[in-house]
Amino acid sequence: LARRLHGIPPTIFSEMSALAVRTGAVNLGQGFPDVDGPPPVIAAAVAALEHGANQYAPGIGVPALRRAIAAHQQRHYGLQVDPDTEVVVTTGATEGVAAALLGLVDPGDEVVLLEPFYDSYPAMLQVAGGVRRPVTLRGPDYRLDVEELRAAVTPRTRFVLLNTPHNPTGTVLSRPELQAVADLAIEHDLVVITDEVYEHLTFDDAEHVPLATLPGMWERTLTLSSAGKSYSFTGWKVGWATGPAPLVQAVLAAKQWLTFTSGSPLQPAVAVALEEHPDFPRSLAASLRERRDLLVAGLREAGLEPTVPQGTYFASTDVAHLGWADGDAFCRALPERAGVVAIPAQGFYDPDLPASREAGRHHVRWAFCKEPAVIADGVARLAAAD
Ligand code: PMP
Ligand code: GLN
Repeated sequence: LARRLHGIPPTIFSEMSALAVRTGAVNLGQGFPDVDGPPPVIAAAVAALEHGANQYAPGIGVPALRRAIAAHQQRHYGLQVDPDTEVVVTTGATEGVAAALLGLVDPGDEVVLLEPFYDSYPAMLQVAGGVRRPVTLRGPDYRLDVEELRAAVTPRTRFVLLNTPHNPTGTVLSRPELQAVADLAIEHDLVVITDEVYEHLTFDDAEHVPLATLPGMWERTLTLSSAGKSYSFTGWKVGWATGPAPLVQAVLAAKQWLTFTSGSPLQPAVAVALEEHPDFPRSLAASLRERRDLLVAGLREAGLEPTVPQGTYFASTDVAHLGWADGDAFCRALPERAGVVAIPAQGFYDPDLPASREAGRHHVRWAFCKEPAVIADGVARLAAAD
């Protein structure tokens, strides 16, 4: 194995989904919905396959999809985005993260990022040679501590890697929290890469504010999103990056050597999703809110007091006081004990910092992007476990 990949563990999501398949457990681990997105969008993909969208798409993405993404940014956020220079289609937000870090970060550059973090961030930061500077969101509220954020910036800091709505805590960064990020970025001339794949999946009165809409931020913000999350097509792997042309060009410069281009027939179908089903993501959020409440109530009943997330489709439990050595041990025993799979949060915390390692031992993440009957079955099993 190349040294650039040393010490990076296999992604926990594959491991835990394989465990669920092997044991027949209810999978409340990996975040993928068990109901697909709108059927007419699937029909559009089938039609595209049958009508010749089967050769390479342009590297930057098919024009119809880029136009639909630009229109989406205008419709929801009032952002004017040039579909020819300020949008690039990626193979999921995963490629967006990889191409952004490979295309922008130089060895030794420090990157401030929220912890717990999505597992591809530290992996691709290591590959790029970047240095992580985590700022921890701590319970019980998992808000951003602005003082800690400021303290994480050094003369070598060049980027902030943000994620809101935040996986795994469910925090939706508030306007004042985002303003603090913006102030810092402007003061220190930082570029912000912001992963907003859960942009539409917010609950109650939480409002997702794209960082790029704050004054002075468009020109220094690269925003990542995904049809996987907004339209429940996680297996399609269609995402996008938007931002000022130089940042988008940097993503494209890396993307051309990663995948060259993303899948042709799925791109016009995602354009149909964005253009013809603009209300789908909000109705998905409304149904997720009910499922959140079902999961939260069920976990409480089972003695697994969870967070009540404002966004995403994840809730977490602090298992430190439940008699388990750590969340990893808890999750590995759970299929046998209860017939349920959940995700230990250990891999979302910095392994090199003692305080982070300790925080990571405490948490277990539960997904609620599942049918109500599946969630009800999962929490009933947990309640019945010893
Ligand atoms: N970022 C976050 C925060 C995620 O939770 C996910 C999960 N899918 C991704 C990126 C990757 O998105 P995609 O499936 O579109 O590659
Ligand atoms: N984003 C989803 C999660 O956090 C799944 C991602 C993955 O499987 N890599 O569970």
